[in-house]
Amino acid sequence: MTTVDTATLEEGTKRSLNFIEQMVESDLKEGKNNGSIATRFPPEPNGYLHIGHAKAICLDFGIAQRYGGTCNLRFDDTNPVKEDVEYVDSIKEDIQWLGFQWDNLYYASDYFDQLYEFAKRLIRNGLAYVDDQSAEQIAAQKGTPTSPGTESPYRNRSVEENLDLFERMQAGAFEEGSRVLRAKIDMAHSNMHFRDPLMYRILKMHHHRTGDKWNIYPLYDFAHGQSDYIEGITHSLCTLEFEVHRPLYDWFLNHLAEAEAIRPRQIEFNRLNITYMVMSKRKMLQLVKEGRVSSWDDPRMPTLCGLRRRGYTPLSIRNFVDKIGYTKFDGIIDIGLLEHSIREHLNKIAPRVSAVLDPIRLVVENFPEGEVEWSQTEINPEDKALGTRPVPFTRELYIDRCDFMEDAPKDYFRLTPGREVRLKNAYIVQCTGSKKNDAGEVEEVYCEYIPETKSGQAEAKRKVKGTINYVSVPHSLDVEVRLYERLLSVANPAEEKNTDFMDLLNPDSLKVLPHVKIEPVVQEANALDAFQFMRVGYFCVDPDSTPDRLIFNRTVSLKDTWGKLVDKQKKG
Ligand code: ATP
Ligand code: MG
Repeated sequence: MTTVDTATLEEGTKRSLNFIEQMVESDLKEGKNNGSIATRFPPEPNGYLHIGHAKAICLDFGIAQRYGGTCNLRFDDTNPVKEDVEYVDSIKEDIQWLGFQWDNLYYASDYFDQLYEFAKRLIRNGLAYVDDQSAEQIAAQKGTPTSPGTESPYRNRSVEENLDLFERMQAGAFEEGSRVLRAKIDMAHSNMHFRDPLMYRILKMHHHRTGDKWNIYPLYDFAHGQSDYIEGITHSLCTLEFEVHRPLYDWFLNHLAEAEAIRPRQIEFNRLNITYMVMSKRKMLQLVKEGRVSSWDDPRMPTLCGLRRRGYTPLSIRNFVDKIGYTKFDGIIDIGLLEHSIREHLNKIAPRVSAVLDPIRLVVENFPEGEVEWSQTEINPEDKALGTRPVPFTRELYIDRCDFMEDAPKDYFRLTPGREVRLKNAYIVQCTGSKKNDAGEVEEVYCEYIPETKSGQAEAKRKVKGTINYVSVPHSLDVEVRLYERLLSVANPAEEKNTDFMDLLNPDSLKVLPHVKIEPVVQEANALDAFQFMRVGYFCVDPDSTPDRLIFNRTVSLKDTWGKLVDKQKKG
């Protein structure tokens, strides 16, 4: 199988085995399943993948890769109500973008015939029955974890009657909701999932793959384990909420699997939750439908396509997943760790450019009008091999409004009358004054450059405390910049018990700057190309850009509180 290059994963190959890898290794040692390893990633095609799914994908494909096994992509399309081909295509694209390739592509609906036969076998063995009660009646009979449920009056039907009714359910003889097929297990079982769980329900729906063939559809508990079994999956990895389903998963297979066949083993791990993020397809769909974000790939979304458009790289996501690891308890991960991971990668690969978000003019009074001085400047000091780019210096420059102050305190190291500052990769300049408009806002700042202080020459002779960046006015491009903040205004929405998550959205999660000035090298950039705007943050080219109108999305700011925390811990 084609897989990620783990050599490029930061600590990927060095870390110790996680508990799932340890279980797989002990299965291999015991010679289970003749040493074969087969996993699957089983998304329901009812939405776009989010970063939580990336955690499952890295595990499913990663285990197969590490132990020379296979990993299938299986669409769990057993519920025709919510599923769509659009989702199928996006899921495939996102898995490949992360750097993985499935060995086989399957759909749970491929197994509908076989599941139907399995169900009839359980009926014939007296282990399943058709119940004529409504969903409400069945729910009312469930009992509680501490008190037994009540047996259905239809529980003891004959095998013949059950078979006949089940076949007629499929033939379309009954209304939706009028009957279900249930496993006949134990209405007093301490595990509620054993209290005669539902296996099939009537749904007279068109299915995106099987059309109108089926009038009944299997439920998760009856479909998932059997699908794993049919595919010869050895390790069925899923999230912790399925731990309580595992005995039932095994119960069905105990009654259906051939003795010598490969028996899948379900292993659960913790779901990924990240602070300030919404991690559920249902909630993401609501955000899109109600127009609170522009689309599934809105850069504020936790979807993989949203993160991609935001400027996240596949490697940064895989490194992040590798760092957080897999455990047996649910928690919530600080978003700072995800941001740290993308900063770390972009620091290595993103070309540096100068951009001025809130521009004002700086006139270099002693620099000749009309003259242009080009200097070669490193594209990325972290990667000398990238070479240099030409940067123009002229009499009229743009600087950021926040880099000038009229009456500055002593510890202000940027531009203020009478003091000196370095213009990044150019000269030291001395501020001589400024001009205001009628509204009292600074409109233009004036300075004189000191020719012998050109960067790279004689720098040691003259020291200044501050450096600011600039863009040459006649060479500048005018671009749009979209600044993204966290989508939620609270870290952990699960803690806000009585509040709908829609009321927890950060109202300032998007700020658009329509006239940012940037140096001319970015003109040739392609969609999703990443840049570091020096002193500001990492940005990427939004796919909505046109050659006349470039749009940049802020991936993340430069400030790395997480990295600082880690450094401090290392030192302390
Ligand atoms: P959602 O609740 O967002 O709809 P889901 O669990 O219903 O998610 P599926 O399409 O059924 O989504 O998931 C496919 C696989 O991805 C499953 O094995 C599931 O356990 C895993 N998965 C889903 N969400 C997460 C998450 N937040 N962290 C880790 N794995 C996840
Ligand atoms: Mg689901």
